[in-house]
Formats: sequence, C-alpha cells, structure tokens
Amino acid sequence: MEKLPFERPLIQKINAGMPSKSGIQAKPAPITHIENVPVVSLLKEFGSPLFVLSEASMRKTFKEAYRAFSSRYPRVNFAWSYKTNYLNAVCNVFHQEGSWAEVVSGFEYDKALALGVKGEHIIFNGPHKSREELTKATTNGSLIHIDHFDELYELITLAETLEQRPQVAIRVNMDTGIYPLWDRFGFNYENGEAWDALNRILVNGKMDLVGLHTHIGTYIMTQDAYHMAATKLASLTTELMRKHKHRIRYIDMGGGFASKNTLKGAFYPGSDTAPSFDDFAEAITSALMKSEISPDNLPLLILETGRALIDDAGFLLGTVVANKRLADGRRATILDAGVNLLFTSFWYEHDIRPALSVSDQTEDATLYGPLCMNIDVLRGNVLFPLLKKGDPYVIKRVGAYNNTQWLQFITLRPNVVMIDTKGKPHIIRNAETLDSLNRHEQIPGHLEDFDQV
Ligand SMILES: *Cc1c(COP(=O)(O)O)cnc(C)c1O
Repeated sequence: MEKLPFERPLIQKINAGMPSKSGIQAKPAPITHIENVPVVSLLKEFGSPLFVLSEASMRKTFKEAYRAFSSRYPRVNFAWSYKTNYLNAVCNVFHQEGSWAEVVSGFEYDKALALGVKGEHIIFNGPHKSREELTKATTNGSLIHIDHFDELYELITLAETLEQRPQVAIRVNMDTGIYPLWDRFGFNYENGEAWDALNRILVNGKMDLVGLHTHIGTYIMTQDAYHMAATKLASLTTELMRKHKHRIRYIDMGGGFASKNTLKGAFYPGSDTAPSFDDFAEAITSALMKSEISPDNLPLLILETGRALIDDAGFLLGTVVANKRLADGRRATILDAGVNLLFTSFWYEHDIRPALSVSDQTEDATLYGPLCMNIDVLRGNVLFPLLKKGDPYVIKRVGAYNNTQWLQFITLRPNVVMIDTKGKPHIIRNAETLDSLNRHEQIPGHLEDFDQV
C-alpha cells in the first residue's frame, strides 16, 4: 500500500460566540463603500494598496469641533497641525474651513506659505527654528512660539537687527495630572521658568508678546487635564496684566484630543472612551470663563487639534496577498500594506475589515504586512473572517500621521485619493515610482559601471 503523506495534526481553539471581558465579540462587518464609491472600483482604478480620504468627513468633523467651542466662547480659531497630515489638498480643506496653519519646522512653514496662508496666520512651533527661519517668520509677521531660553536669547539678538518686531508667545509645559510629564517642550509653569521667560520678553521690549501656548500631550483621554492647563495659562494672563499692564491677544491650547482609534492594550474601544469635542470645549472654556481675566479682554482661543479632526476621514484599502499557517497552527493573513504605510499600527489596534461580504466564519488570526521584516504586524491577534488571496480589505481611521510618518521602505508609497463632497475621487498624491525616487540620487562617475561575467 502506498504511504500517505504526513499531515501535521492541528488543534484549534473554537471560540465562536465566546464572550470576552467586554461581551460577545462581533464579527467585523464589511466596509464595501467609502462615501458611496465601491472599494473594489477604487482599488481597480487607483491600485492596491491605496489611501482614501473623505473630504465630507473632514469638513463635518471640523464643523462639529468649531461648533463645540464657538457656542461656549466668543472668539475661537483653529490652526491646522501640519505634521498630522500635510498633503496640500488636506491642508486646503482646513484652510477653506477657516483654519490657520500650525507648523513645527522650516519645511512646514514654507509649505504653508506656498499654499497661500498669510504670514500672520502661521503659528511657528517646535524646538528647532534656524536663525534664517526666525528672520523669515518675523518679516512675515508670523506667530513665533518660543520653546527654550536659547531660542529666546537668539530672538532678542535678532530683534536688534530687524525692522519688524517679532510677534511671540511662549510654549508652557505644566503638570496637568498626566504622567509622565510632557516637560521637554517649552518653559515649565510650576518651577517659575515660564514666568521668568515672560518677564524677560517684556523687560527687553524688542518683541511683541502676543500669546501663551501649551500642547499638553497627544491622544489625551481626559478633558480634566485641559481644564487644569487652561487655568494655569489664565493665571499667567492675569499676572501679566497685574505686573506689566500687558494684555495678550490669544491663548493657544494646542492639540492632543484623543481620536476614536483604540490604543493597544485598551480595555474598551476608543469610540467608547474618547471624550467628545463638547467635553474638551467645556473643560477649556469653563476654566477661562471662571478665571480672573476681565470679560472685556477675553483673549482669542486657538486650538491646534490634529488627529481628532482627521483620523476618521482616512482609510487604507488593499488586497490579501496570501494565507498561511504559523508553526503553532495559528492562521496568518498577509496583506499588501504594512507598517511602512501604517505607522500608527505601532500603537493602535486598527479596525481592519473585509471589503466584501465573504465568509461568515472567523478565526483568530495574525495580520501581517508585505515587508520582509519580523516587525511587520498590523494586528497581533484578531478575530478575522477567512479572507482569501485577492480579497479586498479596508483599514479604518488612518487619516492622522500616516501620510506624514510613512516610510519609503522596501516598497513604494501608493496613490492617495480624496473623495470630494459630491462623491468624486481625485488623486491628491501620486504613487512613487523608481524614477521619482532616483531623481534624488546621484552616482559618482567611478561607480557608474560594473563588469559582470
Ligand atoms: C503635534 C502637535 C499638535 C497636534 O497634535 P494632535 O495630537 O494631532 O492633536 C498640535 N500642536 C503642536 C505644538 C504639536 O506638536
């Protein structure tokens, strides 16, 4: 008798319908359309993988955030955080909605100028601004947020030589009840450094002190921290008035509002735990309203929120490459988008869905990207439908940070499409090609040729 080939036995835990700590796990429902455009036709027309951004979602979320603040406080302005997503089309959606620009490098500063943002509507943050960049920002009347004493003294020296007076604020860091403290940016409140810096600016007299800034962290899940931060900036505001009779024009509360993504290890999904814009707005504006700032002199309130405005608008579409069994029998599904495109998968449990109603069966699976790198894991262990090679998938809530932190690593970066409010897709960033990358490289003459036998 012929010997049959050996097949390794497979023991598999069947957990269909088993409740977890937070109840019965639901099968992830497919996402077949984005803004009424079929996912499969987007992949067919623009390639796989593909980033898709919804203009309608961005505008709707922005209006919701603006309403939450402007219904509670008389003077509110948003400044779009460029590093969260600085694709030009994205920035312009927020500029059309009335946002200023919030930039943290000379490159981002130039990007905002090139898009036509007025100099005085650019907020220049960050720990490194060169002398040339400080000069340019001063000449354009931009709002320079000083990060440390070295920058303050450089600006004082520079101000002697320039015709315009720099328009400055300081960034303040403080204890808001969130630990570890974010104390590497700006001047500390509790130890008196911030007050020291403010006094030096006013005594020097060569600059216009126009505002106070803080950005207390990112993905902050408690609005109370903002209440404390706003209270502390308000007290600096009243101290400036008391000691120097100096009135500032604005208080900038930064960004950091949590989006609805779920952090790794979180007990409940982010969509249940993230405070709403109303919660954040209530915390911040009530602190300002209750403060000693005179009601006639209420400063403009600026918000630089990034991820909470755009995360929901972004989708990463793609195609299943293969399925295999790991040595321990677990199912592994390989997708065509990896951590090089989805930087945020290092800290979020991204919601990954089939794009067609495929199979009703699910299995615990690890979802890998296409990179030849052990770290290329999009989801470590997730109850996932049995997708086959070639099946389309959709990853939700990828609008923040991925189009800026993505890496050109092993593969080329794909097309980015924005679906306009009428449902029409537009390419807003072309896929990279070998040619477009090679344009940045040069080969010295002696390395141009090599012999091959
Ligand atoms: C990154 C950043 C923001 C935006 O932060 P989000 O967490 O995306 O809201 C705002 N202000 C400053 C100074 C930043 O560095």
